[in-house]
Amino acid sequence: MEVSRPYIVAGPCSVESHEQLAEVVQALERVPQVQMVRCGVWKPRTHPGGFEGMGEQALRWIAEQKAAHPAVRFCCEVARPEHVELAMRYGMDALWIGARTTANPFIVQEVTEALRGTEMRVMVKNAPSPDVQLWIGALERCRQVGLKELMAVHRGFDLYKNGDYRNRPLWEVPIELRRLEPELPILCDPSHIAGRRDLVASLAQTAMNLGLDGLMVEVHPHPDQALTDAGQQITPAELEQVLKSLEVRQTDSTVADEQLRLLREQIDLLDSEMLRLLAARLEVVGKIAKVKERGNLAVYQPKRWEQLLRQRRQMAEDCGMNPDFVEELFEKVHAESVKVQLRN
Ligand code: PEP
Ligand code: MN
Repeated sequence: MEVSRPYIVAGPCSVESHEQLAEVVQALERVPQVQMVRCGVWKPRTHPGGFEGMGEQALRWIAEQKAAHPAVRFCCEVARPEHVELAMRYGMDALWIGARTTANPFIVQEVTEALRGTEMRVMVKNAPSPDVQLWIGALERCRQVGLKELMAVHRGFDLYKNGDYRNRPLWEVPIELRRLEPELPILCDPSHIAGRRDLVASLAQTAMNLGLDGLMVEVHPHPDQALTDAGQQITPAELEQVLKSLEVRQTDSTVADEQLRLLREQIDLLDSEMLRLLAARLEVVGKIAKVKERGNLAVYQPKRWEQLLRQRRQMAEDCGMNPDFVEELFEKVHAESVKVQLRN
């Protein structure tokens, strides 16, 4: 499907009360870039006993808001077939499949079955683990039941240590999704990546710089009083500020200027040089294999490998490169070298 960029979805993590919803809807209706209001109705909580969403009561409040603001579109998360049924009964305009649901193909199957035969717009968040195939699998299950209006939402990945983020962005994963599904709109959810409101604006800009298609942002009229995700929600006024300063980049670079064309020519030349050097290196590896065989030496020589890595890391630093990147690169090169020697 095609969306106008940037496609902005904004709204509270959870619907908490009639007043809270009415206040945020009234504010968001005045933000021209906002195309849809997000609002959590059923909340997946890590621990039991917390606020788990208002359920059907929230849907009643949403239906009231829809009647009062016919131009505003609403979406909520669904995680069970019963959620789908209720959300449709109350006239939701779109649904999303949350990260924890995407991780479980059995549940995705049940949820999508409940959508069979409808024309519902569905957004699929990535699973907490950085597995692009799991993400694509959930989208495929949506397509299997005939859904056509699909979008992906990148909300970061819950790894063991996430640094400054609640969920690590690992931008390479949405980039891979874009490569595999070039027609699929991808939104970024900077709120769940950040976990704190001061990082939301810069993450939103990074998503735009990468050419993603829009944002899903958590917006609450009084963020500090929010019953869920208080630390990461921003006010409607703050959202307006984020959107005002957001620079949206063109995704089609074929129209780009002469300078970019020349720089890309340089990149192509350097890449062919790198590949030529790699091929020459592998030829030497073939000769080494014969020498080791003749000398009855094991293919893998841990001391030599350790020394080589240390030297390459130092060389990387001397050239102003990240030594971790160079180490990863040489791990790949070394793995291929071992393979070649075993084949010899
Ligand atoms: C949410 O959007 O409020 C939510 C629970 O997100 P996620 O599924 O990305 O954790
Ligand atoms: Mn949330």
